[in-house]
Amino acid sequence: MGLLTVNYCNLLFSSVILVEMTKDDIISLPNDHLRQRSKKVGVVSDAVRKLAEDMQAATLDWEDSREHEVGVALAGVQVDELTRIVVIRQDFDDKTNRNFNVFINPEITKFEGEINEDFEGCLSIPDVYGKVPRYSKVRVRALNLQGKQVRIKAEGFLARVFQHEIDHTNGKVFIDHIKDKPEAYFRLEADGSLTPLDYEKNIANNAALWE
Ligand SMILES: [Zn+2]
Repeated sequence: MGLLTVNYCNLLFSSVILVEMTKDDIISLPNDHLRQRSKKVGVVSDAVRKLAEDMQAATLDWEDSREHEVGVALAGVQVDELTRIVVIRQDFDDKTNRNFNVFINPEITKFEGEINEDFEGCLSIPDVYGKVPRYSKVRVRALNLQGKQVRIKAEGFLARVFQHEIDHTNGKVFIDHIKDKPEAYFRLEADGSLTPLDYEKNIANNAALWE
């Protein structure tokens, strides 16, 4: 009887961990988890590594459903896991490179360079793009998948991605940086172009974005 119980548990456990996440596991506004702080990872365990893999699978599945966008990165909260994990695509220009780097408990230790405005989108805020001011360079400290500390000097688009994703771990989304900037908002059209949004109608009075 004891053996039977154990076997049953093993079966149940393996069937749970074999399920890969998809784009449907990605949460979007309005969901108040997106404005909550994620918890630090204590030990980089197999469960943490599995979550990182799931996040990559979900990002790629999302990308495969979007004609004009690349899924460059994702934070744990976006698959409704309030855990400080970020996955970032290794090559932003080559869509066929589907590999990611994983950063656990990432922190920005220094903001450097100048502040630039550029377009950002978010898997958790579909079809809305914003011109967001970010530092051109940041230094980041994190753990890798082996639990070893790594330090990164990032600039340009990678620096922007780190700032966007580490914001997610702190419960912040990109629109929070441009809340009062009517000219900063754009919509992704079906043909892949970006056109200015009606700020009063689509943004300022859109409760789903701010609740
Ligand atoms: Zn995002």
